[in-house]
Amino acid sequence: MNLSEKNIEALKELLEGKKRVVILSHTNPDGDALGSSIAWKMALQRLGHQVEAIVPNAYPYYLEWIPTIKDVIIYRNDEAGVAERAVAEADIIFSLDFHTLSRLDALGDIIDRNQRATRVLIDHHLNPAEEFDIMFSYPEASSTSYLIYCLIEQLWGAKSITREQAEALYAGMMTDTGNFSFSTLTPHLFRAVANLAETGIDIPQLYNNVYNSFTEGRARLFGYVINRKMKLLRKGTVAHLSLTEEEMRRFWFQQGDNEGFVNYPLTIKKMRLSAIFTEHHDFIRVSLRSRGRVDVNLFAQRYFNGGGHKNAAGGKSFVSMAETIKHFEKAVEEFAAEGLL
Ligand code: 5GP
Ligand code: MN
Repeated sequence: MNLSEKNIEALKELLEGKKRVVILSHTNPDGDALGSSIAWKMALQRLGHQVEAIVPNAYPYYLEWIPTIKDVIIYRNDEAGVAERAVAEADIIFSLDFHTLSRLDALGDIIDRNQRATRVLIDHHLNPAEEFDIMFSYPEASSTSYLIYCLIEQLWGAKSITREQAEALYAGMMTDTGNFSFSTLTPHLFRAVANLAETGIDIPQLYNNVYNSFTEGRARLFGYVINRKMKLLRKGTVAHLSLTEEEMRRFWFQQGDNEGFVNYPLTIKKMRLSAIFTEHHDFIRVSLRSRGRVDVNLFAQRYFNGGGHKNAAGGKSFVSMAETIKHFEKAVEEFAAEGLL
């Protein structure tokens, strides 16, 4: 993907000299959030910049293998105030893999206090907010890690990518494309992957690190949810799943254990929309997936105050599980009545 030359020039100018840089990514950081942040951090460090990568809360255990992930600051656990200082002193703040500062929760408040830093967005979500000075916003890109690859390729050439950077970038590309199976694939993405492979990364191992590293509890919870909690609507074209805190405790839940559950109903022929409702302490997280023209970004915006991509989106609900499900089922009927399903 060819990124805007005008933006590339602006970025080159911005990166002249030694700068204090902060790289931020979204709440509940996933493989793409962390992979893109870490690879970009490594690139900037090599130029001599002082860089901190910060995420609002903890990442799931199956991402712990990504090189240098332990150096990423988790804002919620940052009692020493390293993140707050880094943000306050930053010359440049990069926002990776999210489209509005509201996706940062409490971390968003401290960003607002630094009005001096140049704000750069590098992202692939729809509807980016106008709160950035330089915007690399490409909703057609399959991942932010792929955008970071393109950026590095255009700035310094693919040969500059190290094996550690390639592992981080591959983690993001693989997870955001469902291991290279979604509709966002392009020939250039595979050329990018070929260049990452040149660095010597072990692709089967990276796959195993993410997809074959779950807990026993996760496997049992998965069986339970599909067997007992999957409800089909509209002649088997819409499905929803739900998980209460009590159920999660029963299966020794660890953050990330529900990863991928929402995709499973879409393995059923004719399924067009799938949702999972996961209970948290003070809200219910809504996660949506769809096939083809069904636009869950629109669905999430309209009914759950959220957003994302056309075929993968999310939001929140602040009523009970029963009311959330009722609201969802009503929304589905409304959506269908408009011919959107
Ligand atoms: P997931 O279901 O994997 O948590 O999220 C799927 C997609 O929806 C991601 O691209 C994510 O950024 C977006 N998303 C998830 N939750 C929210 C939310 O609460 N608000 C917005 N705007 N986007 C969300
Ligand atoms: Mn992403």
